Amino acid sequence: MADLIGQLVDLVGRNHVLEGDDVAARPAGWRLGPSAARAIVRPADTTQVAAVLRLCHATGQPVVTHGGRTGVVGGAVTTADDIALSLERLTEIEEVDVANRTMCVQAGVPLQVVQERADAEGLLFPQDLGARGTATIGGMVATNAGGNRVIRYGMMRDMVLGLEAVLADGTVVSSLHKVIKNNAGYDLRQLFVGSEGTLGVVTRIVLRLRPKPRSQSTALLAVPGFSAVVDLLSELEAALGGQLSVFEVMWDDYYALSALTAWRRRDAPLEPGSSPFYVLVESLGGDAEEDGERFTKALGAAHDKGLVGEAVIAHSEQERLNLWAVRDNVECLHDLDPVFLFDVSLSIGDMQDYVAEMAEGLGARWPEHRLIVFGHLGDGNLHVVVAVGDGSDTARAAVETIVYGGIEQRGGSISAEHGIGLEKRDHLHHSRSPAELALMRSLKRTLDPDGILNPGKVLDD
Ligand SMILES: Cc1cc2nc3c(=O)[nH]c(=O)nc-3n(C[C@H](O)[C@H](O)[C@H](O)COP(=O)(O)OP(=O)(O)OC[C@H]3O[C@@H](n4cnc5c(N)ncnc54)[C@H](O)[C@@H]3O)c2cc1C
Repeated sequence: MADLIGQLVDLVGRNHVLEGDDVAARPAGWRLGPSAARAIVRPADTTQVAAVLRLCHATGQPVVTHGGRTGVVGGAVTTADDIALSLERLTEIEEVDVANRTMCVQAGVPLQVVQERADAEGLLFPQDLGARGTATIGGMVATNAGGNRVIRYGMMRDMVLGLEAVLADGTVVSSLHKVIKNNAGYDLRQLFVGSEGTLGVVTRIVLRLRPKPRSQSTALLAVPGFSAVVDLLSELEAALGGQLSVFEVMWDDYYALSALTAWRRRDAPLEPGSSPFYVLVESLGGDAEEDGERFTKALGAAHDKGLVGEAVIAHSEQERLNLWAVRDNVECLHDLDPVFLFDVSLSIGDMQDYVAEMAEGLGARWPEHRLIVFGHLGDGNLHVVVAVGDGSDTARAAVETIVYGGIEQRGGSISAEHGIGLEKRDHLHHSRSPAELALMRSLKRTLDPDGILNPGKVLDD
């Protein structure tokens, strides 16, 4: 092993191979314990990534790629036997092509840096999520991240025009196209999107940018029932003519808990407990004056149809941020620790039954349980938070049976946007057929025959 470390130092430089106390001293990732790794290796560019992988492949050394370590399913967890390949030095924005609306970035660039650069160029990178300051574009590609505006712009895979990845044996597959249409054979870039570091290391990405909107309208709405939530979504999608960019739903429990900490409750924009559902909606358009009017009119029509009760419309950027604060205040969930967090998707029409069935199943075993639900409902995506006053593995397994059982029954997905990582690996069969799992294993064996890339994540070894 000393020999391997020495060779890694030769490849990337002494300062960029961290060992021992330097590994332990690294800040923990999101909900991860202290760092453990044989070494953290920080290559400077694609050539060095390829050299490191070539060496690790030749010696059978497991490698776990690290972006910002904000992933929430344990995909970046390392053991003391792993090499962590951190892309923290790949932070260059290599090109912004304004006419073509593309940006070529290295994988370690944080999301917020991309958003700000696009904005400075008069363009929009629409992907957005709470961990924007730390999550890297490479990590977001590797997890096919979703976020707040999927309903309008799609997931991360819809933002990737070109991609460069390094395979387990060090082969560089560079496909940095800028075009939207490219049917020249298999779409190899999509193999790596959502592969969570198990099929290759993503090093550079060509991102698709969009025109910068000239209007942004935001409102928080109290909605009287679940069928009204469903009808409201259809109503606003039709009335806003494709401008609806956010449709975030909070069940009252989440809204009340969040408002308590974000707003000390009494200052909450809408009274907690006054409605069973709260919906945050936003639209992005091209005409500052007309779009605001159209937005207000659409909300008025929804109100007249009985789909909306009280409503608060933001009239300034600060008011907009205040409305978002309630939705984004996921830290409030720590008040319920220990909690189990889930990220599932299913048809909107099935959601009400699913949530009721979970409540019944949990209540039968833990009468004092808490079930908190919120999420990107416009995309069929719910975040489910369960607290049963017991954080043990046994309790987790029992809760997972209830949460995932209902998803399998309804043909939904056990991972809407967070990925599989380590945490959901043993439940993948709820959402994937034996034939799909066999094809995934076959792809893994083809691209990484010795299984050195993120072993044990997504699929078991
Ligand atoms: C407060 C908060 C809010 C969040 N909100 C959302 C949300 O709304 N929607 C959503 O989808 N996610 C959300 N997330 C999850 C997280 O931000 C995303 O999963 C993000 O995409 C991970 O990026 P990262 O750079 O931190 O990756 P990491 O956590 O470092 O890695 C994640 C996985 O990708 C692999 N990986 C990382 N970089 C590369 C690379 N260059 N090549 C190959 N593999 C790589 C890792 O090995 C690991 O398996 C949230 C997280 C937090 C903490």
